[in-house]
Amino acid sequence: MAFKHLVFSGVQPTGNLHLGNYLGAIKRFVELQQSHDCIYCVVDLHAITTWQDPAELPRAIREVTAAFIAAGIDPKTHIVFNQSQVAEHAELAWVFNCVARMGWLNRMTQFKEKAGKDRENASVGLFAYPNLMAADILVYRATHVPVGDDQKQHLELSRDIAQKFNNDFGDSIRNRGFGDVFFPQPEPLIQGPATRVMSLRDGTKKMSKSDPSDYSRINLTDDADAIAQKVRKAKTDPNPLPPDETGLETRPEADNLVGIFAALASRTKADVLGEFGGAQFSNFKSALVDLSVDKLGPIGGEMKRLVQDPAYIDSVLADGSARAQAIAAETMRYVKDIVGFVRR
Ligand code: ATP
Ligand code: MG
Repeated sequence: MAFKHLVFSGVQPTGNLHLGNYLGAIKRFVELQQSHDCIYCVVDLHAITTWQDPAELPRAIREVTAAFIAAGIDPKTHIVFNQSQVAEHAELAWVFNCVARMGWLNRMTQFKEKAGKDRENASVGLFAYPNLMAADILVYRATHVPVGDDQKQHLELSRDIAQKFNNDFGDSIRNRGFGDVFFPQPEPLIQGPATRVMSLRDGTKKMSKSDPSDYSRINLTDDADAIAQKVRKAKTDPNPLPPDETGLETRPEADNLVGIFAALASRTKADVLGEFGGAQFSNFKSALVDLSVDKLGPIGGEMKRLVQDPAYIDSVLADGSARAQAIAAETMRYVKDIVGFVRR
């Protein structure tokens, strides 16, 4: 069966948005608006899988919304909302808790990383997170999901859940006239030169909101001075840049900076090395500072302006939630019929 193409993705309101979130996700969200209907979600239910201060969470939700809009997402043509306003996400996640298997979730590396050594003390929500993510996507029967490389395993799990639901309830799905499959197999869109932006301090670690060193990441709200300092201090090796990509294979820090440059400039790494191959890092870093300030400065400025107007942000989220819910509620009615629940 052919499903109508629909893009869904989300970002957690868990702290400072950084260059990895922008290049791996938000920049792609913006591009996909030209070719697809898109639904972009501030996933606040995911955020509380780790402790969030209730006095801080609203600000974080509004800041991610502001980042979406500042980066160029149009909340009128597409849908922008926060997850907790559409209860169907949590409702479908419960059904998926009963479809997914413990063995599948036990293999998820993000849980292992985030729970760390104290697994007994991790929230149940952190463990079940991928089931909620599957529900986020499938409650819209979305077909395409732009994410960073770190979410690949969760997307595979979403596909497994869709398939098991389609199989387990196959007779019911057919008897109700939905054809052979109710849920599509959502396609991950993990593309471009910066699907995994690494820490500026350690080329083997993902750039992340939770890294204690602010020098490890470029925040979307960093000003020009902060960006310049962080890029200049970024770890590198003593050699000049190689002439082609094979020369980056054993140089994670160089590879990361070239990938960042390429993604910011919407060029390929090969093209960037064509220009900078043989150059010293000091020259390349100066060009990277200029490019970063040029691309990120306006977004950060617009974010700061938008968060001054929480009433506007909240109206965007309310409008988006209502339009998202209209789709999600229909899916949930079908799911209830397929599963065999009695409903009004
Ligand atoms: P947290 O540490 O709270 O999980 P996060 O930085 O991983 O924060 P998320 O909200 O979990 O941010 O992810 C939002 C999107 O950003 C996802 O699509 C994720 O794959 C992408 N992303 C996160 N970090 C990076 C990175 N370093 N490089 C590329 N994409 C990234
Ligand atoms: Mg994450």
